[in-house]
Amino acid sequence: MKKVAILGAGFAGLSTAYFLSKKGNYDITIFEKEENPGGLAVGFKKNNWKWTIEQAYHHLFTSDSYATNMAKELGIGVIFKRPLTTTYTHSAIVQLDSPLSLLSFPYLKMSSKLRTAATLAFLKFNPYWKPLEKYTAKEWLINYQGIESWKQLWEPLFSGKFGEYEDDISMSWFWARIYKRSASLGYIEGGFQHLAEKLTQYLKNKGVKIYFNTAIHNAVEKDGQWYLDRKNFDVVISTLPMPVFLKVFTKLPQSYIKKYSKIKHLHALNMLLELKKPFLPPLKNTSDGGQSKGEDSSEVERPYWLNINDKSFPFLAVVEHTNFMDKKYYGNNHLLYIGNYLPREHRFFKMTKTELFKLFKPYLQKINPSYDFNLNALRFELFVGPFAQPVVTKNYSEIKPPLTTPIPNLYVGNLDSIYPWDRGTNYAIELGKKLADLP
Ligand SMILES: Cc1cc2nc3c(=O)[nH]c(=O)nc-3n(C[C@H](O)[C@H](O)[C@H](O)COP(=O)(O)OP(=O)(O)OC[C@H]3O[C@@H](n4cnc5c(N)ncnc54)[C@H](O)[C@@H]3O)c2cc1C
Repeated sequence: MKKVAILGAGFAGLSTAYFLSKKGNYDITIFEKEENPGGLAVGFKKNNWKWTIEQAYHHLFTSDSYATNMAKELGIGVIFKRPLTTTYTHSAIVQLDSPLSLLSFPYLKMSSKLRTAATLAFLKFNPYWKPLEKYTAKEWLINYQGIESWKQLWEPLFSGKFGEYEDDISMSWFWARIYKRSASLGYIEGGFQHLAEKLTQYLKNKGVKIYFNTAIHNAVEKDGQWYLDRKNFDVVISTLPMPVFLKVFTKLPQSYIKKYSKIKHLHALNMLLELKKPFLPPLKNTSDGGQSKGEDSSEVERPYWLNINDKSFPFLAVVEHTNFMDKKYYGNNHLLYIGNYLPREHRFFKMTKTELFKLFKPYLQKINPSYDFNLNALRFELFVGPFAQPVVTKNYSEIKPPLTTPIPNLYVGNLDSIYPWDRGTNYAIELGKKLADLP
């Protein structure tokens, strides 16, 4: 029986163990530095809540078949709805989640709207991403949609998400988001943490050993055996973020380390507020004429998602989870995320949650001037998601790390290796399936 060590109990690591255990004949051990499974999708639950909530906003798309199938196999339902996705621009909230809402968007000339709609339709139906990767999103979008659409619709989003790298992002990254994403969004019953815990329980029942609170800082290889945490293994599969992996496996050739160190990453910084009253105001007239948006339309009339298309704001999205999933699962309170992706050295990472909230509050009041945080804010938390977003530059396929490494019996898969897709639990699970086929 081959002894396999898996590093990381995020969805990629757990799924690798899941698919490996289905193949049989493997003695599997997982090492995870945190006390719970879930990685970037990790969540928590207060005593009076029925469901867990993620530290950072999470949902699924209708194309996320690996994640929905995994949930199904473990007996967990996935709820799909069509919540409102909106944009804050010109000091107002406007709906922007369908061709119709684009055509009624007030801040673009009709010619720009038509060019934008045509190119988005092209990207939605064109499966050939490779020719696109040699362009930056900026140059391609300006070329095909025009400068007005770039300035009004996309530049603030690229700037908010990628900061100093905003001009470098490959068009294939943008393509993947249009090609794969749906207006209907899914949520795992009980939360993503519930799925991670069910998966962990399944693995334990199958005899998989899982060590939490066990960070692996070095790995020694001798005579075809790997030694980790004083245990020996025939095979190691790492799902650690690439920069961590390169530090742990010091025997990797310098040329390999140099090549894959070039991929830059941003960290996620999310503030989660628990509120007595909903924060995002209802939209008066939705552009689709109030068509059905799911089984419980009264619950989704307030926006779930608000992109911030205003470069003066210190955050890039406001996500009101309880305008998507019912507040009854969370003690009848409302949950609001304030999201950011930032470089590791950004000053926000040195600030306390109170300092940051003070900084964010005037901007939140611009979104809803009549909201009284003193009356309604019950608590707020701050969470960091390390190495949460690789910076996908032009011709990324040339630097996409392969799952095999120059060292035999050492495999690696993480957010950097799912290209052309953008990071997501679905692709972490698909990656786990691929990794499980290697040993
Ligand atoms: C803000 C944000 C929003 C997101 N939104 C969505 C969404 O809406 N839908 C969606 O599907 N996905 C979303 N994602 C992405 C999703 O969470 C990730 O793609 C997925 O969880 C990645 O799983 P992974 O296992 O590849 O990596 P990770 O989750 O990063 O797992 C790596 C694991 O390795 C562990 N580890 C690190 N160092 C060590 C060490 N030295 N020793 C041992 N263990 C170690 C970590 O603790 C972690 O558990 C979002 C992510 C973020 C940050």
